[in-house]
Amino acid sequence: MKREAKFWETLDGKIKCTLCPHHCILKEGARGICGVRENSGGTLYTLIYGSCTSAHPDPVEKKPLYHFYPGSTVYSMGTVGCNFRCLHCQNYTISQANPDDYPLMEIMPEEAVRKAEACSTGIAFTYNEPTIWMEYTLDTARLAKKHHLHTIFVTNGYINEKPLDAMARHLDAANIDVKSMDDRFYREVCGARVEPVLEACKRYKKKGVHIELTYLVIPSKNDSADDIAAFCRWARDELGEHQIIHFTAFYPHYQMNHLPPTSLKKLMEAYAIAKKEGLHYVYLGNVPHGDYENTYCHHCGHLLIKRHGFSAEIVGMRGHTCAKCGTEIPVVV
Ligand code: SF4
Repeated sequence: MKREAKFWETLDGKIKCTLCPHHCILKEGARGICGVRENSGGTLYTLIYGSCTSAHPDPVEKKPLYHFYPGSTVYSMGTVGCNFRCLHCQNYTISQANPDDYPLMEIMPEEAVRKAEACSTGIAFTYNEPTIWMEYTLDTARLAKKHHLHTIFVTNGYINEKPLDAMARHLDAANIDVKSMDDRFYREVCGARVEPVLEACKRYKKKGVHIELTYLVIPSKNDSADDIAAFCRWARDELGEHQIIHFTAFYPHYQMNHLPPTSLKKLMEAYAIAKKEGLHYVYLGNVPHGDYENTYCHHCGHLLIKRHGFSAEIVGMRGHTCAKCGTEIPVVV
């Protein structure tokens, strides 16, 4: 649904969108890089308010969020469009879709909250990039919080400060993709820049949002020991040694289907590097990995949360602490 957008200004008879670091300058009739914001008659419009590609309950572990109400279910919603152009996008059929052509269903914020309350304890904006859905995610998250639902972003972190601050007021948790520490990777593979993503990670955390980071390990692109160590050192120094990290396996896809899948050995090397750099809560995803999906106390090694696939069971915690040694654990429960 078309609706006047937030976060823009006029510039020399054109419109400058200020939602994300692309800062698209749009002449009459033009759409931004995300494909879902349009200058129409000198006003910026979102074309996707309340427009959904899918909406259904998911385990929170699937986002992935491992330290945020483990074992809970969240009503998960997505739309079309993205401000990235990732060559390996798993969801390119929606992320690169034109809203004029895609069969979208309309779910207004009130209905989304009603549906979420019926089947879950929260709402997640996921599947494609939620930043570009900002007018809708803001309204829906604000209403969701009034109904005591949790709110979640699964995001690439490409967002300007002002909209981030507005969203963070109504947001409980975010899984943010950090795809590389290398600006060249971001430019060539994603059509974006790395620095705004790193700044957004720090700012979401500073604003009190629980964040977990996902690093998709892509063979020959971002998987060297130096690449992984640089990411781990940045996460430790800027976000702290308790920062939760998910290393996930790449599978050949879209315009990167010439690359092999990530080996379990490579993921285990990434895990070992993260541990060596002093990160306490590191997980492996998209592979069968046994112990690498469980949560253990960083102080005494006691098993705290047992996971299998997308199911999770708290087995060794008392409130927010380890049931064995009493250490405070960074888990929202
Ligand atoms: S949100 Fe879309 S239109 Fe706005 S700056 Fe980003 S890519 Fe451009």
